[in-house]
Amino acid sequence: MANKRDYYEVLGVSKDASKDEIKKAYRKLSKKYHPDINKEEGADEKFKEISEAYEVLSDPDKRANYDQFGHDGPQGGFGGQGFGGQDFSGFGGGFEDIFSSFFGGGRSSDPNAPRKGDDLQYNMTITFDEAVFGAKKDITIRKDVKCHTCNGNGAKPGTKKKTCHYCNGSGHTTVEQNTILGRVRTQKVCPVCDGTGEEFEEPCPTCHGKGTENKNVKINVKVPEGIDNDQQIRLAGEGAPGENGGPQGDLYVVFRVKPSDKFERDGDDLFYDLNVSFAQAALGDEVKVPTLKGSVMLTIPAGTQTAKQFRLKEKGVKNVHGYGYGDIFVNIKVNTPTKLNDRQKELLREFADISGESIKEQSSNFKDKAKRFFKGE
Ligand SMILES: [Zn+2]
Ligand SMILES: [Zn+2]
Repeated sequence: MANKRDYYEVLGVSKDASKDEIKKAYRKLSKKYHPDINKEEGADEKFKEISEAYEVLSDPDKRANYDQFGHDGPQGGFGGQGFGGQDFSGFGGGFEDIFSSFFGGGRSSDPNAPRKGDDLQYNMTITFDEAVFGAKKDITIRKDVKCHTCNGNGAKPGTKKKTCHYCNGSGHTTVEQNTILGRVRTQKVCPVCDGTGEEFEEPCPTCHGKGTENKNVKINVKVPEGIDNDQQIRLAGEGAPGENGGPQGDLYVVFRVKPSDKFERDGDDLFYDLNVSFAQAALGDEVKVPTLKGSVMLTIPAGTQTAKQFRLKEKGVKNVHGYGYGDIFVNIKVNTPTKLNDRQKELLREFADISGESIKEQSSNFKDKAKRFFKGE
């Protein structure tokens, strides 16, 4: 605990930062370091540190306690409980819900100003082939959409808006209070009209005046050819509806690509391990190698060593931004035979003999003895 960083420093805010500033800093940082987004080493630790700092600084009591006592507060520090074992895998399904409120940007102070709807995020898992060749996928997301009854304005069809009866259209109310400093007048946002100055003659029976309804919506997603793990696309206007005539938010689809059982992928390049026998490597051969579009014949020259790499130019993945194709790199692995019959052994002994090698052959009998020796029998 001794080398714990200062919570204000972690969030990059000043000691007298407002609740909003702290929240903003947290949203920005947690988005950046979220383990689902940031795969860099240490991002996970950073995310936990940020969450912990926010947990304390967002709570007025804990913050006051921290300001006074630091990390070693009378509650024995805040870090021990609740954070260490936090399970981030739980973000999987509800990820879009958690982050939907993180986008959307600054709120205008004018309650009647048009406002863009929140952006949403959806994590899509696709196969290697779908990523490499592109695909069309239907997804269903639950989101707020414009209410179908009132078309988003919140009023029962055929009725009008009227001046708010509570604030007479000003959008705020004034409260007078007696305090030790005398009478204090405070202005508050009108609780009836939420500061708009208007209310409905009759609210919409479907959405009760909210203007939106929560629905399952089917969206067709075109997976771009060549997309890679952790890359995302933006579907403009597929996010939450805007307010006061503002534009719809966007939907971000983040891709998770399942690995291939044949190839390792690194960007647009693919790597393939090709096992060849000792005889093939020594004498040379022609070997079938898979590519994304059928297989090709690769010539293995005589005397090929293990770990030798061959390049199949532009047989890799199509670049998602249209910059040509990657390559396939074929890595040679020369297999040493493990089971030899007597005839094969005889030929290899003869081979060694001709090559002038004097081999101290380990008989299987010797191996057994050695095994027993090391086991202490
Ligand atoms: Zn409605
Ligand atoms: Zn009002």
